[in-house]
Amino acid sequence: MLCAMPLDENPLLQTAALESLAAQHPGRSCTCGMGQCRSWESVPDERWPAQQVRRIGTLRPVDASVSEPTYEEFHPHQTRYDSPEAPIAPAFFPYNRCDVFSCAQCERVLLKYTEYGGYYVDHRVRALQAGLVSDAQPDSA
Ligand SMILES: [Zn+2]
Repeated sequence: MLCAMPLDENPLLQTAALESLAAQHPGRSCTCGMGQCRSWESVPDERWPAQQVRRIGTLRPVDASVSEPTYEEFHPHQTRYDSPEAPIAPAFFPYNRCDVFSCAQCERVLLKYTEYGGYYVDHRVRALQAGLVSDAQPDSA
């Protein structure tokens, strides 16, 4: 269990914090209806178990209004956006738009962001996995 924290607190998590969260929360089968989420999956609000997940932080830069986070993705080993083994690199899309949640039921740490299309919003969720976190930075940063 994570220690209690005021609900409105929303700290910016750095790579090291993510890595230790991943180490503290080894993957366990989820029974909360979201499935494995080893790669990015669409999770509509109806399937998002809001009662048992708690926001524990964010990966979005605080000054996102000043400079929009990059849309560049990080795939040094020929992975793709939806590859289960794609790196989790907070400096890159879509991790730089994610909030971080923990599930009270399976104790997994979940990353979530919202994809905005012309006529829809799509909530996407991926489970945090130890060993995939990367602190790589975009070249142009
Ligand atoms: Zn769960």
